[in-house]
Amino acid sequence: MSLIRSAIDFVSLRPWRWVSLSVVAALSITYLAAILYLVWAYPTITFSPGDETKPIVKMPDDFLFGTATSAHQIEGGNDKNDWAAFEREAGRIKHGDVSGQACDSWNRIDDDIALMQELGANSYRFSIEWSRLEPTDGVWDDAAWNHYAGQLKKLKAHGIAPMVTLLHFTLPHWLAQRGGATAADFPEKFGRFARVAAERLGPDVALWCTINEPNIMMYFGYVTGIFPPGKKSNADAVHAFAGLVRAHAAATVALKQVAPKAKVGAAIHLVDFEPKQRWNLADWGAAHAAASAFNWAFCDSIQSGHIRFNAPGFPSINEPLPACAPVDFIGVNYYRRDLVHFALTTPGLIETGPGPGEQNDLGWEIHPEGLLVLLREVHHRYHVPIYITENGLADAHDTKRAPFLRQHLHALQRAVNEGIPVKGYYHWSLLDNFEWAEGFEPRFGLYKMNYKTLSRTPTAGAEMFKKIARELGTK
Ligand code: BGC
Repeated sequence: MSLIRSAIDFVSLRPWRWVSLSVVAALSITYLAAILYLVWAYPTITFSPGDETKPIVKMPDDFLFGTATSAHQIEGGNDKNDWAAFEREAGRIKHGDVSGQACDSWNRIDDDIALMQELGANSYRFSIEWSRLEPTDGVWDDAAWNHYAGQLKKLKAHGIAPMVTLLHFTLPHWLAQRGGATAADFPEKFGRFARVAAERLGPDVALWCTINEPNIMMYFGYVTGIFPPGKKSNADAVHAFAGLVRAHAAATVALKQVAPKAKVGAAIHLVDFEPKQRWNLADWGAAHAAASAFNWAFCDSIQSGHIRFNAPGFPSINEPLPACAPVDFIGVNYYRRDLVHFALTTPGLIETGPGPGEQNDLGWEIHPEGLLVLLREVHHRYHVPIYITENGLADAHDTKRAPFLRQHLHALQRAVNEGIPVKGYYHWSLLDNFEWAEGFEPRFGLYKMNYKTLSRTPTAGAEMFKKIARELGTK
């Protein structure tokens, strides 16, 4: 009773109290309406148990199904790039590992193609190593170009369509010394490299990927500093971002001029950022900000022809891009979901961490539903064909790889059923390999590497890959 009495006393005959009560009520209603809208517009997707075991029933006829690798991680003997120098610095790579001979794939490409055959793959995504092909500024190494030309011929002879990546993290040492992604002439040099690649390898390449994960190069190279050049400067990060956008544009223009029939795209690392607390509007805002800066800034820039980057704590950039042919496809590299929390005490106000699901050996949450969420978003934003250019997990005990593969293909099948133009899937990776700052410890391969004998042994994941290849009828 006394509570009601006090409430009546509070509001009676005092207009300012009515005003403040009305403001609080209006704000609460707006907050509630916003949350209800977001929860309705972005429902949590949960696959039903058993869904993921269903066979693949329908994919486009020209669907590509293969594995992905990158030169520095598997070839061995790459000592003329920024990574080789970085690996030699104390404390940079876990256990002091160096890429060294890696999987010796430079000399064992025939063995690796035999594995692709065994898997029933009809495509292979790999990168060509810029520092081998142009070891000195403007000087081309014919033997190295011939090596990749030979590799393309071999793939063709085995009915394996290549997707060739021009830049997968490693920059020639001569370019790194002048500032790498922040060097003023990086776009021009990369454009020239792309032109020569199209001239020398073009006839055998229908799919080009300009840059692998420019967003990872920017964040790991310039924000966290765990990749070369090992900087921690938001200003340099934005500078590198602009350089990567311009370099992609220069390469796209060159590839389109020399090989007009080829399809050109870029591969972006996409994380399924979701609010940690779905009733907390600040967490929705934080998830949105994380996705805008990390997932979408690069593709938004190249597709709109305008370099734009805005994120809390970073200098903004907003500049027109002189010339850029829009991409023919977007490559999606998908590994995990992160839950995002708005935290006043964290620099950048954003805290991220894995969700509650099962994790891989690197602590990344395994969340196949996130692939469907991201495919819908990529389609909604860009309306171009999509390839899953990487998807995989570190799983040394090989207990999670086979279900992982099945579940992610299930997500992809649902996307295709919804009319999203997904044209192919590349599993990361064919072999265990040099996992950058994590060294050789994480095991991402469908084939397990013995780094002493260099033998390759199929995992349970390889068996699942073969099964799905049969369902898809790729071979
Ligand atoms: C990279 C690969 C890497 C994989 C697993 C991707 O971000 O493109 O080079 O090995 O993730 O971490």
